Amino acid sequence: MRMCVALLLGLSSAALAESACPPLPGYGLPPGVFALHEMDLHLHAGMERPVPLTDWLDYAAKDGRKVVVLLDHLELYRKSPEEYRQWRDEGKFQAEYPVGAAGHDALMKDFAQAGRRQDLIVFTGWEVYEGELDTGVEAEALRRVDLLGWHISPNNGREAPNGQTLLRRAQQLKDLQKDFPVPMVLFHPFTMRIENLQRTAQREGRDSAAITAEQYRFFQPGEQEQLAEILRGSSIYIEISNSTGHYWDQPACRAALIADIRPLAEQGVQFIVSTDAHSVKHAEEPFRPESYCTELGVTPENTNTIVRELLAIRAKSP
Ligand SMILES: [Zn+2]
Ligand SMILES: [Zn+2]
Repeated sequence: MRMCVALLLGLSSAALAESACPPLPGYGLPPGVFALHEMDLHLHAGMERPVPLTDWLDYAAKDGRKVVVLLDHLELYRKSPEEYRQWRDEGKFQAEYPVGAAGHDALMKDFAQAGRRQDLIVFTGWEVYEGELDTGVEAEALRRVDLLGWHISPNNGREAPNGQTLLRRAQQLKDLQKDFPVPMVLFHPFTMRIENLQRTAQREGRDSAAITAEQYRFFQPGEQEQLAEILRGSSIYIEISNSTGHYWDQPACRAALIADIRPLAEQGVQFIVSTDAHSVKHAEEPFRPESYCTELGVTPENTNTIVRELLAIRAKSP
């Protein structure tokens, strides 16, 4: 596996910058590049929204966000009206939308309204369950948005997601993009594996602190090169979710995340950063992705590619 020596020796970020790591692709003058915490490409703003949309976006703007992708889980709109009423009451959500296509309409109207803000650049998206890549997609809904994010599941209770999962999904997205020519993102694959392994350990009465970096590793030898081969030069991105920060203080998790992600960045795979925020508590926390992205090799230049692409598509659309 291609992995730089400085990382294997466990050098600090400062020492890393000085060392002989392969250069990270990407470029831009500082004023022409959004800082990591200025971007949130996965912000829940639909049925689960706890407060009015304006207030919800104020949290993001106040913490420094300049670019957001507003989205919702597409499958929520497939509830029956009765199921929806009950679920909404239990979740105490402020937002209220019709189910079905009327709900898609109402949501997109709200997002268009949010797009008039002067302090944020607003794009729209859906978060879609990865299984729909096997069973079929809801075409009309998918055509309404700027970006499609695919929810890689932790698959709790079953086999954790791994390199083979991602290789398969990446290829499926490449095929799907012929019919839906918008940027696509594989959402939060790496942290879903960690979640699965830790929950399995808890369920089986084992200490999750005993899980090794080797066991956390997402990829087998050779898989990163295969994935980079599929994704390099494409408009398919991988999300580095905010939950990465929750595992960052666990040394085995951190070592596995760096070993899994940094070689991808070095080989030209492109990423997004996001909060995946649902709750007010989450929205009030400062979003500081640089605290984990620097060591992962996920730079502002790398993560600006998708923003530049979305801006160009918007500028050229009739
Ligand atoms: Zn998700
Ligand atoms: Zn999400």
